[in-house]
Amino acid sequence: MRAAYDVAIAGGGIVGAACAAECAAAGLSVVVVEPGPVGGGATAAGMGHIVVMDDSPAQIALTRYSRQLWIDLARELPADVEYLPCGTTWVAADEEELAEVRRKKQVYDALGVKAEVLGPRELADLEPHLRAGLAGGLFVADDSVIYPPSAARFLLERAVERGASVRLGERAAALTPEGIRLPNGTLLAAGTTVNATGAWAPELTPGIQVRKRKGHLVITDRYPGFVHTALIELGYLKSAHSNTGDSVAFNAQPRCTGQVLIGSSRQYGAEDTAVDPPMLERMLHRAREYMPGLGELTAIRAWTGFRAATPDKLPLIGPCPDQPRCYLATGHEGLGITTSLATGRLLADQLTGRDSAIPRAPYLPGRQPEEHG
Ligand SMILES: Cc1cc2nc3c(=O)[nH]c(=O)nc-3n(C[C@H](O)[C@H](O)[C@H](O)COP(=O)(O)OP(=O)(O)OC[C@H]3O[C@@H](n4cnc5c(N)ncnc54)[C@H](O)[C@@H]3O)c2cc1C
Repeated sequence: MRAAYDVAIAGGGIVGAACAAECAAAGLSVVVVEPGPVGGGATAAGMGHIVVMDDSPAQIALTRYSRQLWIDLARELPADVEYLPCGTTWVAADEEELAEVRRKKQVYDALGVKAEVLGPRELADLEPHLRAGLAGGLFVADDSVIYPPSAARFLLERAVERGASVRLGERAAALTPEGIRLPNGTLLAAGTTVNATGAWAPELTPGIQVRKRKGHLVITDRYPGFVHTALIELGYLKSAHSNTGDSVAFNAQPRCTGQVLIGSSRQYGAEDTAVDPPMLERMLHRAREYMPGLGELTAIRAWTGFRAATPDKLPLIGPCPDQPRCYLATGHEGLGITTSLATGRLLADQLTGRDSAIPRAPYLPGRQPEEHG
């Protein structure tokens, strides 16, 4: 019997939406199952920074590729996606971090990623609200920010325009080699299933190495021009790398609305969605250390979300080793907004047998992950 769909995707976050759009564009018949609002999971909680990251060669390959896909798509994005090509400023607090700026610059230069080293005065001119006495920075011009839930909606609408079906208000109870099983027993028959349920992925694919990593964010009232670029302290790398312990790092983003989005924290083992006041205060204290004036702004909302973390900090994109018709598209940790488009493209490449623009092996679920300390 022929399956009703080529691909059945569980999860309508930005990753599931990108997978749906790419599979539909490749001529595959697609159904997406999403119990909540489109993009209502980590996608709504995230910062929306589209950023090239160089923690590992595979990470830089994926983020650079995906950032280019965002740049290519930018002209078609509707206004509510709030695409802001503001660039990233990596902030170096001291000489040690300035050495990291130079190392990063070399890596970016070698890959053709535009990056400019900033001295203390140039940094102050670019972002006058940063505190005095910082050592410098690295400005990466082609990074941007978006409003992720609108981007997820846009991608899913694209998929629908290309013939995909979306079943909102329904959840997958099981992913089987025959398709997605709904709680009432209905089978959405499909040649391939895709688990794109983010931090919930282990519920449908037990045994995969995906852990919830809680994060806090705060958004202010409107202060147009308070920050101009997406700001990240270089200490962020230490915080994002750690596989243990709670951490915070200074991260501030301008929004099209004039609001400032402030992050972020990282916690394993915290499964509760509630805002944790001591963690929030720790995060805001860090932010004020870099930008004292933030303490004068009015914050209007704080919230949390869960990143889907893997041991080697790379997503899982491809078939489960023991169930070749059940694919994974999860484990994007703090980069799933950035890497969603490349994930969709790599998944569609695998399902259609096309070549890919970058090697796919580092993201295959069957890889032997190296734990990054
Ligand atoms: C605080 C924070 C800051 C971040 N900042 C950034 C950033 O600046 N840049 C960046 O690139 N990334 C960032 N991220 C990461 C990014 O938000 C995520 O990697 C990305 O949103 C993951 O998308 P997703 O579609 O995989 O998951 P989700 O958006 O969580 O979507 C999963 C979907 O699956 C659905 N689902 C769950 N169970 C089922 C089921 N049984 N059946 C069907 N559907 C189901 C859920 O309802 C949900 O909608 C941040 C994350 C956090 C938490």
